Amino acid sequence: MKILFLASEADPFVKVGGLGDVAGSLPYALRALGHDTRLVLPFHSNLNTSGLNMHRETVFTVPRNGSDEPVQVSHTEINGLPIYLISGEPISKTASVYSPIPHVDGEKYTFFSMAALELARRLEWAPDILHANDWHTAPAVYAMYLKKQNGDPLFAKTKSVLSIHNLGFMGAGSSEQLAAYGLPPVTDEALPAWARHMPLPLGLWAADELVAVSPTYAEEILTPDFGCDLDGFLRTRSATVTGIVNGIDYSLWDPSADDSITAKFNADHLDARAANKAALQKRFGLAIDPSIPLLAMVTRFDPQKGVDIALEALRHVNDLPWQAIFLGTGHANLEASARRLEADLPDRVCAVLRFDARLSREIYAGADIFLMPSRYEPCGLAQMIAMRYGALPLARAVGGLRDTIVHNQTGFLFAGASPHALSVSLRSALKKFPNAKTWRAMQRRAMAQDFSWARSAGQYVELFEALIK
Ligand code: ADP
Repeated sequence: MKILFLASEADPFVKVGGLGDVAGSLPYALRALGHDTRLVLPFHSNLNTSGLNMHRETVFTVPRNGSDEPVQVSHTEINGLPIYLISGEPISKTASVYSPIPHVDGEKYTFFSMAALELARRLEWAPDILHANDWHTAPAVYAMYLKKQNGDPLFAKTKSVLSIHNLGFMGAGSSEQLAAYGLPPVTDEALPAWARHMPLPLGLWAADELVAVSPTYAEEILTPDFGCDLDGFLRTRSATVTGIVNGIDYSLWDPSADDSITAKFNADHLDARAANKAALQKRFGLAIDPSIPLLAMVTRFDPQKGVDIALEALRHVNDLPWQAIFLGTGHANLEASARRLEADLPDRVCAVLRFDARLSREIYAGADIFLMPSRYEPCGLAQMIAMRYGALPLARAVGGLRDTIVHNQTGFLFAGASPHALSVSLRSALKKFPNAKTWRAMQRRAMAQDFSWARSAGQYVELFEALIK
């Protein structure tokens, strides 16, 4: 199959969140399964292309409000995967992957989506599958639908798949930009009126198949609690909604070969792991004591992630021994709350408010319990990485967390999105911690789970094959 894979970010060029991990590994896994996959990314100003051989592939224009918007395309290859980077004024205008100004991103990603489709034409490469991800590339799905309606032969046989990594971000505030690139609102009343001119809903409406990034999230988005007011519409499309959990790249996340950590280890040599915990305790001025459970969170500081729930819950279990490290950045009020907890409990809590990939690895390798009290979690990668590194996740039973963690076997799950629910669950986990034998058995089970892309990519391939049959 020929698979055109579109995303706003991808490791190793640039990674803001989990989507960067996904787009930085799934295309390679699809290619490894024998499919001609090609990745197209915006050439953001902050893209890291060091060490890569870049060639100018082609230049062309896309129509915008009656004039022509110039597009330049560079080409490179990583491990045999062809990668096209799209440049143009709407992309070079901003310094970051995502802008806080809605119409700026609306312009950037509608331009990118249109240019990516036009690129396929320039390459004379008719894809079997157009695989878009989240709102940023959803306009490509809608645009291709319109092109097919208009009898465009290039896409006559192409099927579209839109992966939903986060339903909450829909690209609001870009309707003018959609219109400028020739993408009118739909009139179908199945979509709520407010959604008929928004990138993600248009993609959800036009795609041949929708993939939620976990089976539980696929069910949740059909309900009012998680459906972001599109649940009614999505229920009309439920026959085309599938759930496929994301994977992690096992070569990039491997505690037995990770040069960022103090001591490498594997499931058969868990003793070596202790040095990583001790190094963290030393570095952050915590008591260097293997018997004190070390809790950790590595996350965007966003209400979604329940950072506030965790900070509050820790105050409720102050009578038990534990230490905690928070690594993350984001909402100012959450950062301030983390600083307050650190100030109130300086011997126990450390808040590192930045993005630090290396430190995140040291934390996965040294923490005992990894907290993820998410309010919603489409898939979540951090819990998979934590398990791979022997840090047991303690997480809310939502979305992908529910699908990837087995309660009391590979981690701990709790139900409510409240400090009380988390503190009850944490108390029970902290009681188990001193029993080294049981704890180790759980760590080994967690480390033995298969969250590799090979499995998930296989599921995507099955879905694609069924679609084009
Ligand atoms: P999301 O995509 O919603 O942010 P995921 O759990 O799917 O959440 O993926 C988050 C990824 O970003 C993980 O690889 C995690 O380690 C990483 N990450 C998040 N915050 C930080 C940080 N402050 N420093 C380093 N890595 C981080």
